[in-house]
Amino acid sequence: MDSLELPDPSDIAVIGGGPAGTFFSIFALQMARMVDKNLNLTIYEPKDFAGEGPSGCNRCGGVVSELLVQTLAVEGINLPESVVQRGINSYRLHTAKGSVYIKAPSNEHSIATVYRGGGPKGVVAEGKQSFDGFLLDLAKREGASLRREKVSRVEEKNGRPMLYTRDGLLQKADLVVGAFGVNSPSARVFRDCDFGYSPPKTIKTAIAEIEFKRDIIPEHFGNSIHLFLLPERDIKFAALIPKQTHLTLCVLGKNMSKSRVSDFLSHPVVKGAMPPGERYELSCTCFPKMNVGASPRPYTARIVMWGDAGSTRLFKDGIGAAYRTGKAAASTAMFHGVGRRHFADTFYKVHRSIVIDNWFGRYLFFITGLYKKHGLMTSGMLNVVEDEQKDPESRRRLSYILWNMFTGSERYKTIFLKAVDLPMHLDLWKEFAGILSGRRP
Ligand SMILES: Cc1cc2nc3c(=O)[nH]c(=O)nc-3n(C[C@H](O)[C@H](O)[C@H](O)COP(=O)(O)OP(=O)(O)OC[C@H]3O[C@@H](n4cnc5c(N)ncnc54)[C@H](O)[C@@H]3O)c2cc1C
Repeated sequence: MDSLELPDPSDIAVIGGGPAGTFFSIFALQMARMVDKNLNLTIYEPKDFAGEGPSGCNRCGGVVSELLVQTLAVEGINLPESVVQRGINSYRLHTAKGSVYIKAPSNEHSIATVYRGGGPKGVVAEGKQSFDGFLLDLAKREGASLRREKVSRVEEKNGRPMLYTRDGLLQKADLVVGAFGVNSPSARVFRDCDFGYSPPKTIKTAIAEIEFKRDIIPEHFGNSIHLFLLPERDIKFAALIPKQTHLTLCVLGKNMSKSRVSDFLSHPVVKGAMPPGERYELSCTCFPKMNVGASPRPYTARIVMWGDAGSTRLFKDGIGAAYRTGKAAASTAMFHGVGRRHFADTFYKVHRSIVIDNWFGRYLFFITGLYKKHGLMTSGMLNVVEDEQKDPESRRRLSYILWNMFTGSERYKTIFLKAVDLPMHLDLWKEFAGILSGRRP
C-alpha cells in the first residue's frame, strides 16, 4: 500500500482554490506533462474571487513578499499590473515613543500589495483583478477544472478516497489535496478520516478597509507600509497597508472585535499617522483566523494537506509558504508517489522546515514584545534605527532585523543569527545609557 504511484490517467481532487490549492495545481499539471502523465485535476472552490467584500475574498493583508514576486517570475508567473494595487519601497515604524522610517534593502524593491478578492465592499476597482482569481485562471489554463462546490465529506472505499458534497458523491480520487485554509470548518472533513490530522492552532485577527478621498493615499502614505508596535495588551503588531484608494488595516493579536478595531484607530499614535483633518470610513471589516501553529500529521496515503491547513510562516509571507508547500506536495506526488512514506520522505521535510523556522520566529517576537513594552528599550531601538538609516546599508543591522521580521521574506533563523550581533547590541546599550543619563531623548 505504501509504494503507491499515481496511475495514468489519474484523478486528483483539490479542496480549496486559494494560493495553496492553485499553486499545487499549476505545478502538478506542469510536472505531469514533464513525465508524460495525464491528470484529471479538479479544484473545488465555492467562492467567486471577483466578488466584493469578505464573501469573495480570502481575507489577508495582501502583501506579496519580494522573494515570492521574484520566485514566481522565475517560474514564468509575472504579477500583471491589474493584480498589483501598489508597490512598496519602505515602511514607517510607529511606537509609543515616536516613529522612524526604514528604507527597503536594495535587493527588495518588488514587494507588491494585492487584493485576494474583488475589493472592499461597494468598491471593486476598475481594471483590477484579484490575486486569487489570477492564480485560479492560471491553474485553469494549465488544464485544471473548477467546480464551485464545497466538499463536506471524504471517505475511504477500497483504498481510494471518495469526496462528497451534502447532496451526494462528487468523485473518487487517486489523490486528495486539502488546501482549505483555517477559515472554514473543513478541517473536520479530515479529522473524521482518522489518520491523525488535527487543524493548526489559530488566533482571531482583524482586517479593515479604510477608504480615503482619491490622491490621499499616494500623497500621505506613499509606497510605505505603516507598522505599529504599541504597548497594547493582546496586540502583537498592526499594519496599515496602502492599496489604490484604500488602506488595509491588519491587527494581529488575540480576540479581535469591532470595538478593539475602533479603540486601535482612536489610539493617539494611530491618529497621528493618519492625514490631518481628513475624514475616512471603514468600508469593510472582518475577523479572519490566522494560523499560528502547524498540523502534526498533514498526510496519509493518497491524502495531503498544506498551506494554512498544514503549516505556514508565523505572522508573515503565508502566500509564500503556500507556494513552497504546494510545490513540494506536487513534486512528491508527480515524481515519487502518493503513499504515506512518499509524503513523509519528501513533502514533510518542507513542512517541518517551516515549523522549525517558526521556533526562531517565536523567540524573535518575544524579544520584540519586550522592546515594544518597555519605554527605554523602545526609545533605544528608535534611536539606533534612525542613526542606521544614515549609514551604508551593510551597517544597518537593527533595521535589517526589523524590516525582515515584518515585511521581508528572510527566514527567521537567518534573522536570529543576525540578531546575536555584538556591535548592534553595543549600539543599543550605548543608547540605553544615553537615555538614562538624559543625553539622548
Ligand atoms: C490578518 C491576516 C493578514 C495576512 N496578511 C498576509 C500578507 O500580507 N501576506 C501573506 O503572504 N499572507 C498573509 N496572511 C496569510 C495568508 O492569508 C494565508 O497564509 C494564505 O491565504 C493561505 O492560503 P491557503 O490557500 O492555504 O488558504 P486560504 O487562502 O484560506 O484558501 C482556502 C480556500 O479553500 C476554500 N475552501 C475551504 N473549505 C472548502 C471546502 N470544504 N470545499 C471547497 N473549498 C473550500 C476556501 O473558500 C478558500 O478559498 C494573512 C492572514 C491574516 C489572517
